[in-house]
Amino acid sequence: MLTLETIRSMARPLGFERVAATDASPVEPTPPQAHRQAQALTADPRGILPEARSVLLLAMPYAPYRPRPGCAAVDAYYVASNRAHENARRLAEAIAETGAKAVMTASLRVKPLAVRAGLGRMGRNGLLAVDQLGTRVSLQVIVTDLPLETTCLADAPLDERCVNCHACERACPARALRGDGSLDITRCVRAQPENLPLPEAMRLMTGASVLGCDLCQRSCPRNAQVGEVDEPEALAAALDLSRLLAGDWKGLIPWLGKNNARRLRLMNRAALAAANEGRTDLLPLLEALSGEPEPLGSHARWSAETLKNRMR
Ligand code: SF4
Ligand code: SF4
Repeated sequence: MLTLETIRSMARPLGFERVAATDASPVEPTPPQAHRQAQALTADPRGILPEARSVLLLAMPYAPYRPRPGCAAVDAYYVASNRAHENARRLAEAIAETGAKAVMTASLRVKPLAVRAGLGRMGRNGLLAVDQLGTRVSLQVIVTDLPLETTCLADAPLDERCVNCHACERACPARALRGDGSLDITRCVRAQPENLPLPEAMRLMTGASVLGCDLCQRSCPRNAQVGEVDEPEALAAALDLSRLLAGDWKGLIPWLGKNNARRLRLMNRAALAAANEGRTDLLPLLEALSGEPEPLGSHARWSAETLKNRMR
């Protein structure tokens, strides 16, 4: 029968540098004020696999991308998560091949389970930090009927490194962090619906990013040991703003997955990134998009107007 140590050795070549396990009892349900996506998550691993005895928490580390002035950017988390999701599914299949039941799931409340398993500590930025990997990890979950050696920590105070630090709260341009480790998701830039125009005050906050916002991670001293890297060349090419504004966004699917690489999501933010990065050379493309249905049309018009005002 597989042990936790054997699973760790299977997980490492798939990019999971930390693996912890907790038992299959439920965690606290999602608080009622949480985002509706969070409300959809289950707190009970046996809702995923009735025979569950253990829950595996897997952490795949990643390095943030070095900003490239004038260019579009994407939060490296999404690229890592695309790979981590696929590799966690492979690991579940490999465990199942030994005769155990193992289900990879994205439907469980992962952070409370990870804290209970001793994988890391929550911070004021609402994110789990895993020792020196910091918050730069993609977390994945596998529920299994294997009776693994589990850890079940009873209480979970905020990371002690947060006691005298409020850097993430100061860095958040949307004031979405409440300071107690919770997040007002309605204010968070990352969670704004793509089918509505972004409020004008938020359009400057998205900067060069076409997906995500990681200012509360960049500012966090828990990430001090995680250096930046350059984007892979092929990703940088797919992020070319003129390509994105011309409608050539599908080159991002292999990097971000179909769920995150969606036309409206990427082109909305590419239009804003053009203004935020001062790309007056892209005015013709923005003007060509200004008649698009909302919200892309209004983002393109705002961006063109912002650039023209700067030129006056
Ligand atoms: S992701 Fe951005 S907007 Fe959301 S809490 Fe972090 S810094 Fe604030
Ligand atoms: S920035 Fe400071 S307060 Fe915020 S999560 Fe990191 S250590 Fe905690």
